[in-house]
Order: sequence, then structure tokens, then C-alpha cells
Amino acid sequence: MKEPDKFTIISELAKRRGFFWQSYEIYGGVGGFVTYGPLGATLKRKIEDKVREIFVNKLGVMEIEGPIIAPAKVFEASGHVENFKEPMLECLKCRRKFRADHLLQEATRISAAETEKMSLEEIKATVEKHGVKCPECGGDFAEPRYFLTMFETTIGPYSDAVGYGRPEAAQGVFVEFRRLYEMARGKLPFGAMQIGHALRNEISPRQGLIRLREFTIIDIEFFFDPENPECPLIKEVEDEKLRLLLAETRLKGSEEITEVTVKEALEKGYIGIPWQALFMAYAKKLLVELGVPEEKQRFIEKLPWERAHYAGQSFDQEVYVDRWGWIEVSGHAYRTDYDLRRHMQFSGVDTRVFKEYAQPVEVERRVIKPLMAKLGPVFKEEAQRIAEMLSNADPEDVEKAIKEKGY
Ligand SMILES: [Zn+2]
Repeated sequence: MKEPDKFTIISELAKRRGFFWQSYEIYGGVGGFVTYGPLGATLKRKIEDKVREIFVNKLGVMEIEGPIIAPAKVFEASGHVENFKEPMLECLKCRRKFRADHLLQEATRISAAETEKMSLEEIKATVEKHGVKCPECGGDFAEPRYFLTMFETTIGPYSDAVGYGRPEAAQGVFVEFRRLYEMARGKLPFGAMQIGHALRNEISPRQGLIRLREFTIIDIEFFFDPENPECPLIKEVEDEKLRLLLAETRLKGSEEITEVTVKEALEKGYIGIPWQALFMAYAKKLLVELGVPEEKQRFIEKLPWERAHYAGQSFDQEVYVDRWGWIEVSGHAYRTDYDLRRHMQFSGVDTRVFKEYAQPVEVERRVIKPLMAKLGPVFKEEAQRIAEMLSNADPEDVEKAIKEKGY
């Protein structure tokens, strides 16, 4: 008989000692949900407190607690309704469903970096080319399609009031930006954090605590002035070493680690934003204090097509485990002003921050001022709408059109 691996031994031990086990055991258990027992709940709380100690107390981050359910609009604005989905393959015979990229990785040995960027057409072609069949029954697959991995519900008894379970806690910070900015006395930089449950309707959850359908997430959003991204705390961590797997290295097909100090990483431009480097140094420190040795940690830079839809430069902090290899434990993304800009568009509420310059700055700007007296008689009841469209148009485009076409 094969020796049980470390994962199996620890899972069994965790169950026996009351750390965690699969939920709803008496009904046969449901994949992707775990219950923390008395010891597990205590351990988990201590990890959360360690995060508070390192990030909250030091950076003066504000901790808030928002709801798990949000109206659809929030996740339409954030881009999740459009992007938070995974390609799925369904067996025509046994009707089992599989996450297409994972299935192809196992069946064809094509790398995760390759399968993750495949379109539905490419998935279909790869399935046909390699003759991939259902691993359970050997059946053929239906056309691949996308599956939205957010839990959908209705709010109250109104079927048109669609709501989603949050797949991350960051939007709960962005939607409260105006209040938080006030509490930060109208000054940048400042940060806010949420610790709470998140829901992801994973197509194929794994065993143990990896890729759960409900789990605790810690989201810290830190707002700074992109014209002044200097971080006064960077001095304190500048000699910390970071193990980076850079995008340029990955594009060469290599997994070679670039080990640099925080200072070097910024000087060489490996990490663009000082604040991001600070958070990465703190995240490494957090894991070391939790008992993960430095050599079992790395930061892998995401390739453009792997990045979340909102992200600029983005690193995942990964930890090496025997059972699965490198596993993501935290993500460090420069989200730019994407979220705040989108919420401003969708809610109509101004989320901009006003910056006072020491000296008045004069800027010459071309603007469009529709003259209702002229538009009214020509366009009648449409005039208001046309005036709005003109006001929102790019003045350069309008000027060009007038020059070229005369109207
Ligand atoms: Zn099947």
C-alpha cells in the first residue's frame, strides 16, 4: 500500500483534533465547504490578528465590515458579472461538469499559463485534437461554455432584484469610498480593510482548504496619489529580500527566481509602485511569522492575460506545498483607479478626489458648451439628449468633425 502523503495525514489529524472538517457530514458532505472546530476557529482568529498587527496597526488602515450580498449593479460596475467566469466542459453521457482549463492541463499536459488564456473555440479545438474524453465515464463533451462563478440570488421576494454573493471583499471598500475618504480627513494616502466571508461557486473545488466555495478573505485597499506614489515606510523594509518570478522570465519559459532586496526591485523597475513593494514585504513577513520559510515562498508576476480584469501590475504570493506545488495565498494588484471610476460611471456619484496645489496651476482646456437656443428649434424634444451627448463627447473629435465635414 502507498504511504499516505503529508496532506492526507494532516487532514485526518485536523479532523480528529477538531481543527476543520467537511461541512454537512451527516448529509454526505458538500464539496467546497468546511467547518472550523474549536481549535481551528481559534487558530484562524490568531492568523487574522496577525494580519491586523502587521498591516492595520502599522499603516493605520481602517477596518470595516460590510454585507456579503450586494445588488447586481455593484458587480456589474466592478466588471465581475462580465469577467468572473470559468470555461466549463459538460459530459454528454454522465452530465458531470469540469473546469475546462484544469481538465486540459491534466489530459494534455498543456501548462496552466497556456490553458488559462484559451478562448472557447481554442478549448473546443484542443479537446478535438487530443481526443479528450470525460475522465469519469469516457463520454464526449458538449460545446464548452462559460459558467459564472458568483452565487446569484434575489433580494427580497422580487425576482428582478438580482443580488450576488461577493466573490471578494474589495468592492465593499470601494462603494464606501466617499465616507472613508471623509474619515481619512480628505487626505491621501489611506487604506481600508475587510475580513469576512466570500463566496465563489467553484466548478470543481479541491480537497481540504484549497479553493473553497465559501471562505474567509482579507481585502486591503490602499489609496494613494499616482502623481506622488512615494511611500515613507519603504526605508524600513528596503533591505528585505523578495523572491520574484518575473513576467519576462516566465515568457522565456523559465521559472528562475530573481532574488532582490525591496530597494533593488524598485530601482530596477521590477515592481513599479513603492506601496506595492511595501505590501509585498509585509506579506512575506506575515508568512514567515506564521511559520512558512522564505525559500518556500515566491511572488509570481502575472502575465497580461492572467491578470484580473481590473489589474495593472500584479503579483501573486505563492507557497510551495508537497501535494499541489505552488499555491496562491495572496494577490498584490495595482488596480489603478479602475474600481472607483467604474462605480462613478454606474452610480453617478462622484468618487473623485480633489487635490490642492501649493501654487495655482493654469490649464487651458477646450470644452463643448451646447447652445440650447440653437439646438432647441432644430431638434425639439430630442434637443436635451443631444446637448448631453455633445457635452460628453471628446472636444477634439467634435472639432475634427467640424473641420472635416463642416458640421
Ligand atoms: Zn462522463
